Amino acid sequence: MPPKDYQSEKEKCSKFLQEFYADNELGKKQFRYADQLVQIAHRERVALCIDLDDVAEEDPELVDSICENTRRYVNLFADAVQELLPQYKEREVANKDALDVYIEHRLMMEQRSRDPNQVHDARNQYPPELLRRFEVYFKFPSTMKPKVIRDVKADSIGKLVTVRGIVTRVTEVKPMMVVATYTCDQCGAETYQPIQSPTFMPLIMCPSRECQTNKSGGRLYLQSRGSKFVKFQEIKIQEH
Ligand SMILES: [Zn+2]
Repeated sequence: MPPKDYQSEKEKCSKFLQEFYADNELGKKQFRYADQLVQIAHRERVALCIDLDDVAEEDPELVDSICENTRRYVNLFADAVQELLPQYKEREVANKDALDVYIEHRLMMEQRSRDPNQVHDARNQYPPELLRRFEVYFKFPSTMKPKVIRDVKADSIGKLVTVRGIVTRVTEVKPMMVVATYTCDQCGAETYQPIQSPTFMPLIMCPSRECQTNKSGGRLYLQSRGSKFVKFQEIKIQEH
């Protein structure tokens, strides 16, 4: 179960994204985030960048919550965006890639095989990360002071941290798996493994009920086509 206030926090995130605007140089209202949502809905943009100075104008308390528990708020905003996207979709998406086609196909198959009397959201079967084709980023508030690198310790885990330093080495941009999708060689069931770090232990045995009951020892095979990747880059920095 998500924590009790998950829903109300998500509504705050959602409200901010829909309603925030700033006047542009011509004095016209510009809905900075709604505009990004339109682009994301049409797969013309991947990153949603939330400037915490904008959030501070609307809800300073929300900024504190985001800085203290950034990982949770990335998910809250991602959930809010996922729910909002259908509202911002004005036309069919032209550029579909292999994962789009895969997701569409799976959702269709699942809806067909489901009991029509059962009310259920088809997406619940999948880890939410697999269906998201966008990423959420925060830009630190201008009031936040950068930390010295050596002061970034265990208590910073999960929080928003700003550091200042000299970049000494940058790796190439590589794909990093965020959801591994496997199929079983015995029962054909799919298994999803959300991954939260650059390395992970692949699953081997099929956890499906069918395989467990029959003790058929189904083995899992990783399918890169149904898995989800994000761009990943490692940057080494040193203090000034
Ligand atoms: Zn199996």
